[in-house]
Amino acid sequence: MEDGARSNPYEVASAQLARGAECIDLPAEISAILAQPKNEIIINFPVRLAGGEIRAFKGYRIQHNDIMGPYKGGMRFHQEVSLDECKALAAWMTWKCALQEIPFGGAKGGVKCDPYAFDKADLERIARRFTHALGANIGPDWDIPAPDMGTNAQVMDWMMDTYSNVRRESKQAVKHAVTGKSLLCGGSEGREEATAWGVAMCIEHWADVRSFDLAGASCAIQGFGNVGSHLATALSRLGVTLVAVGDHTGYWHNAEGFNPYRLAEHVRANGSLDGYPRGEPITRDEFFASECDILVPAALAVQIGSEEAKNLRCRVVVEAANGPTDLEGERICRERGIEILPDILANSGGVVVSYFEWLQNKRCERWDRESVYGKLERRMQSTLRAAFSRAAELDRDLRTACYAIALERLRALYERRGIWP
Ligand code: NAD
Repeated sequence: MEDGARSNPYEVASAQLARGAECIDLPAEISAILAQPKNEIIINFPVRLAGGEIRAFKGYRIQHNDIMGPYKGGMRFHQEVSLDECKALAAWMTWKCALQEIPFGGAKGGVKCDPYAFDKADLERIARRFTHALGANIGPDWDIPAPDMGTNAQVMDWMMDTYSNVRRESKQAVKHAVTGKSLLCGGSEGREEATAWGVAMCIEHWADVRSFDLAGASCAIQGFGNVGSHLATALSRLGVTLVAVGDHTGYWHNAEGFNPYRLAEHVRANGSLDGYPRGEPITRDEFFASECDILVPAALAVQIGSEEAKNLRCRVVVEAANGPTDLEGERICRERGIEILPDILANSGGVVVSYFEWLQNKRCERWDRESVYGKLERRMQSTLRAAFSRAAELDRDLRTACYAIALERLRALYERRGIWP
């Protein structure tokens, strides 16, 4: 895949924090605490694969901040997982939870491996061995993993099962050590779609505020996994046509519009978009230059750099992925009048419903899909209203406004609790 030199995500995250801190005059000592993760865990662990071969893997868990509650964040399986990427992703989780006012801190982790290169049996071995190696570094009131790129409900079920087998508590008592599980294993209704639902709510809110008619609009989505595929179907219900799409195997264009349900079926059956017959292959550069109203990165970080930003032909970039726009990319978008709906707001529906799952497990409850959707919608609406009105008040971009809200909440806690001892 053509994918030139990319920015370092941690440098992007650090500059975003600095901008938010400056906006609210965050005291230097609180900025210094938030600039670094509390714990950086790197684990090298061996796995005996199904064929008998023993392979060494590198796993990470970065615990950024826990002043608001237990660390919370996804586990990624991808060949580009690195310390700096996890540090950035963990910090973004802290701001996201603070912005949504949920009682969690921020964490992120994963295993450096290509999930498409292993069959189910080997993925299970990797997930279980990694969970075992993490030991007491995770737990229902300490650090709660969730799915992210390259992992899914099945991987979360294996992680939860491994955790509950090695702890001394009863198996039922620690189900909430992991969220994003299958319904069978204590997952929540709607968790799988939650991130995409939240992104769609964000797009609808933006369209309302900007008096933009979504019926008849077009979109392009990079990444057609959990978030990208559910978002494509949610947007099609709002009358938005998907004209360009891409994943790790390539990019395609269809001026008439792709059928997102058929695309999702193809990915379920074949593991990727490759071989989908109803579209014309395009390059990655052509994908980012696709003419559309809404461009949604829903794959990796730092995808929109200066080159991509110069060529964008959309009105708005909606960050379903974490950290998809680098600093130059953002500057150029601002200059060109292309709005950005920032990740910590746009994709926060996932962690909100993870919180609902954690609550349901703790209370031995099961909420139906309508009630999960309704609770998510109420929380998203109030956060969206707060973010848009703060941006207008400050006369700043939405990202800075979201950081201002999140950092003010963290500052209030630090000022009240103080630094121990
Ligand atoms: P996923 O593994 O289900 O899908 C990832 C998609 O990205 C796949 O279509 C894959 O082919 C594609 N991809 C991988 N490498 C690529 C490359 N080099 N170029 C183009 N496409 C590539 O993951 P997901 O859960 O849908 O997560 C996607 C993004 O959304 C990530 O940035 C993740 O952090 C973010 N996110 C996910 C959740 C969640 O609940 N799953 C919540 C918040 C944010």
